[in-house]
Amino acid sequence: MTEEFLLSTAQRLQPQLVNHFMNLITKHELSHAYLFNGADGTGRQAVATTIAMRLFCQNVTADGHPCGECSECRRILAGDHPDVVSVVPDGQRIKVEQVRYLKAEFSKSAVEGNQKIFIVDQVDRLTTSAANSLLKFIEEPVGNTVALLLTASKNLILPTILSRTQVVDFPGVAPKELANELEKAGVVPSQRLLLATLTESVTAATELIVDDWLGDAQAKVGQWFTACCESDERAFVRVQTELVPLATNRERQGIVLDMLVAVWHDALRLQTTVLANDQLAYPQVAQASQQVAQRLTTDQLVTVMTLCLGTRSQLNGNINFQTILEALTLQILEQTR
Ligand SMILES: [Zn+2]
Repeated sequence: MTEEFLLSTAQRLQPQLVNHFMNLITKHELSHAYLFNGADGTGRQAVATTIAMRLFCQNVTADGHPCGECSECRRILAGDHPDVVSVVPDGQRIKVEQVRYLKAEFSKSAVEGNQKIFIVDQVDRLTTSAANSLLKFIEEPVGNTVALLLTASKNLILPTILSRTQVVDFPGVAPKELANELEKAGVVPSQRLLLATLTESVTAATELIVDDWLGDAQAKVGQWFTACCESDERAFVRVQTELVPLATNRERQGIVLDMLVAVWHDALRLQTTVLANDQLAYPQVAQASQQVAQRLTTDQLVTVMTLCLGTRSQLNGNINFQTILEALTLQILEQTR
């Protein structure tokens, strides 16, 4: 990620929060522990990194923002700054060793008296023992340290952590604004809603439409979905022949899984609401969605949605992509039979 891109992302997604934190730092009023609660795509990482840059920047701009160009800013962006310590979950959970590492870094800072900043993403994935270790240094901060804990789901955070941090709720990016930007970027209407459910950033969205990847994926997921709805066992074959080849890396595999959630979500919404084609993520299979919405009970559709939603954590747990999709398809076929 380039520095201009990161800074402008934070500024574009969360202008008020960025300005608020830049002011706090200028006034030396930054607290020592925050919980950033924001859905994926709302810029929680970008804002956290911007704060880290502001704390170390050698060339703060006249309006109190990091320059993005000095050596400190560049090292932070490269993930190569000794006083900016980041932890992301190792697989599904943040393990106690990772917190031990944080702890060691914390105590070093106490010795040297350095400014240090800790960024722990997906803090909802802390194991209980890791959370307990983390709590200890939130309660007894050492030296000049700031801890930024990030999560997409505040309701999964232990109350003991919530009560010891300042919670900052990140507002979602307005879907209408995103839809307008997608239109400007040349995204065809039938793909706009799907894209808006998959990502909240125009940049990420435009990457998905290169070589019409999204259009192709949307068509193939739609065909798989139609076969599932008709309880056609060829849905299982489509996994290997159509779905698996769509995604050659983990990131794209995750997106394909999100696309499966989106196609079943259309059906679930259609059960209770009349929706026009431009309100559907998959307008091209509107008829199949409508039919399956009528044929299955709400419980069955919720079961299917729950199965789809569970696939992301299977992928994070290093289960093979094809295995995940095949198991999912068999379970869905049991519901639609
Ligand atoms: Zn700088």
